[in-house]
Amino acid sequence: MSMPRDLAHLLLDALFPPRCVACGASGALLCASCLAGVSAPTPPLCPLCGRSVAPSGNGDTICALCAAGHRPTALAGLRVAVDHDGAIRTAMLAFKYRGRKRLAEPLGDLLVAELRRWELAPDLIVTIPLHVRRRRERGYNQADLLARRAATRLGVPYLRDALIWRRETPPQVGLSAAERRANVRDAFALAHPRLTAVLAGKRIVLIDDVTTTGSTLGAAAAALVTAGPVAVYGLAVARPSPHDDYALRAVRGAAARTSAGRAARA
Ligand SMILES: [Zn+2]
Ligand SMILES: [Zn+2]
Repeated sequence: MSMPRDLAHLLLDALFPPRCVACGASGALLCASCLAGVSAPTPPLCPLCGRSVAPSGNGDTICALCAAGHRPTALAGLRVAVDHDGAIRTAMLAFKYRGRKRLAEPLGDLLVAELRRWELAPDLIVTIPLHVRRRRERGYNQADLLARRAATRLGVPYLRDALIWRRETPPQVGLSAAERRANVRDAFALAHPRLTAVLAGKRIVLIDDVTTTGSTLGAAAAALVTAGPVAVYGLAVARPSPHDDYALRAVRGAAARTSAGRAARA
């Protein structure tokens, strides 16, 4: 006999009220006041990569990076929900490196809000699979937890394990955009040929926790595109700078040894 997970969570929350990972306030893992302080890329956004662009007359301006060819070509578009700083950066660290899985709820809700602003109406949600190397280190896939939350809230089917890594790839840390693309080129494949029938003709949203240049999402989208979907769009919670991506990994060891409260005050 096991009680429903939601009930178990309610009981646990009553006994041990969650504390905000960013400010330490009691009541929620990411409190309303911290969420209210979260910023997001300012519209107008580049339709291809979601970065802010200077306002223009036609409202459909492609950013300089995309115009110069630095974009994941298999993606019909890419958006991030919020900026990677403040409470979000602290929360992403806790979610990725300190095992705070239930942050998938508030962070997944940010994805839901972004999809509504985007007005995409996807038919299907898919995620980046957990890299073999990271599976050994950590054992859970943050992208999967986020996608499950978003799919449930949106009432959109979620196809778990649609993709597999075809090979081990070195970390993207410290690589240029072009190097990142080369590093993950052909890195993904459909998990099974029969998935083609499921993916064909669909508007697919591909979810990852963070994206920097979009190269990993782009490589995964390239594998999905072989099945003949209408379009594949990429969505992540936030976009760290390449430098911050490095910092995320560099602080990993320290973060694992730091309590949420101490991290919040740091
Ligand atoms: Zn807070
Ligand atoms: Zn762009």
